[in-house]
Parts: sequence; structure tokens; C-alpha cells
Amino acid sequence: MIGAIAGDVIGSRYEFVQDFRRPKNFTLFTPACRPTDDSYMTLAVAKALVESGGDRDKLKAVVVGCMKEVAHAHPRTGWGARFARWLFTEEKSEPYNSFGNGAGMRISPVGWVAESEEEVKELSQIVTEVSHNHPEGLKGAEAVAMAVFLARTGKDKTEIRDRLAKYYPRLRDKYFTIENIYEKYGYDEMGMWVTCQGSVPQALVAFLDGKDFEDCIRNAVYIGGDSDTIGAMTGSVAEAYYGIPDDIKAKVMTYLTDDLLKIYEDFEKIKKPRVTEKR
Ligand SMILES: [Mg+2]
Repeated sequence: MIGAIAGDVIGSRYEFVQDFRRPKNFTLFTPACRPTDDSYMTLAVAKALVESGGDRDKLKAVVVGCMKEVAHAHPRTGWGARFARWLFTEEKSEPYNSFGNGAGMRISPVGWVAESEEEVKELSQIVTEVSHNHPEGLKGAEAVAMAVFLARTGKDKTEIRDRLAKYYPRLRDKYFTIENIYEKYGYDEMGMWVTCQGSVPQALVAFLDGKDFEDCIRNAVYIGGDSDTIGAMTGSVAEAYYGIPDDIKAKVMTYLTDDLLKIYEDFEKIKKPRVTEKR
């Protein structure tokens, strides 16, 4: 989960900045970096998984409450317009058929508590359908959650790619590489950046084509687009696969206020271990 927050913080200063030839060796942390909605909603999902104590029947109501609680404590960030209404002005917040990439950026804690692929699917469905109940929203969330689960439980990249291609067949395309996305993403997929369909496959390739945690995050951010959210999704999977370097983790923690650190620490107590053998 801290990998998602790292990707969000690192990508935050580039969100929708249209410099399509951004260097890959950009400075990871600058004074312009900050946690955004991706970090807040990831922590809200983690909090809900802690507070619902494994009770599926409770989780749906608890996750709505936690998303609102964390958002109301941290209102000043870049919320999507429709999700902001859902969070802040609707008394009874109903799902709104969204396929926005908000579904994928917040889901990583599910991959850290689920004990089976079946459980990944069930938990992802419950967490996502409170707002992002369009089939592409549900698919985007499940793909990221499943990627985290497979990476955490020791699968290698060949197997992970093969499994994720069932969600997004273009992951089998040998030309769908991070270098080719870098050449084109800012142009021909303009307008698709904030959808699951237009950013989850890119985030997954940023992981698959990366050689370590930092390289994956650099892949996610240098291609352009919705950089904090793509960074969060890539960071989710990269942490589960590689772990997160101590220096990056320590730096990211300095961006979190005490209420957020408390959620992080509570979640650390319930998350399952990751397989650490070299793959
Ligand atoms: Mg954001």
C-alpha cells in the first residue's frame, strides 16, 4: 500500500502536465510533491478493511464511511468532479456507473489482505461498486488488485503478464511497451487518460517493463498522462513484487499527517506477508 502512496506523491507534480518529452531521470521528490486523492482513497480502503474486521456484510457501508471520513479530513486536493459530489454533497451516495481510474488507484490494500484469488475478486467488487460500478471500473480495480495479489504471493512476471492479459489482451502485444507508450501516449490517447481503459494497462506495463521499484515508478511517471494515479497503480504492484526501498519509503512517510500514519500502522498489523524469494 505504501507503494501506491509513493507513486502518487512522486507523480503528483506532473498530473496532466503536458510535457510529452519528460526525461526519465526526473527528480523523484521536489517541494511540489504531495499526497493527492489517490493516497487518501488508498488509505480509506485500508481503514475500511481494518474496521470491518473481515466481515463482508459490513464492508460496503464501512468503506463508504471511511472514504468520506478521510476525504472530509483532507478536502483540498484534486478530486474528480463527480466523485467530489459523491463524497461531499450527496446525503445518500449511490454508485454512478463510473469507469474512472479512481477504481484502480485505491484498490491495492485488497491485494494485501486477500488469501485467495476468489477473495481478491469478492473484496474488489465490494470496494469498487460503491461508486465505480461500470464493468470497466470493476475490471480495472480487479486487475490492479489481482496484480498486487499475484506479485505479493511470489508469481513471476511472465505469469503475472499472462494473467493480466485476460483483463487487457493488449498486454500480449509485443509493441505495447513503455518506450512505445512514451512516444505516443500524450497524443493519440488524449482524453482517455482518466479512464481505467486508458490508464490501467499503461500502469501495468510500467510495472512489467520495470527492473526495480524505482524504475517502475519512473516508467509510470515519464510517459505522461494522469501521472499521480498511474504512479499509484504501478507503485501498488511494484511494492508487492519488489518491496519498497527504505529511502523512498522514509521520504514518503514524511508527507503523511498523523491521522494517515495511524491508518497506515493499523493496516500493517492486518496485511499478509509478501513472498520475498528472488524471482
Ligand atoms: Mg490524484
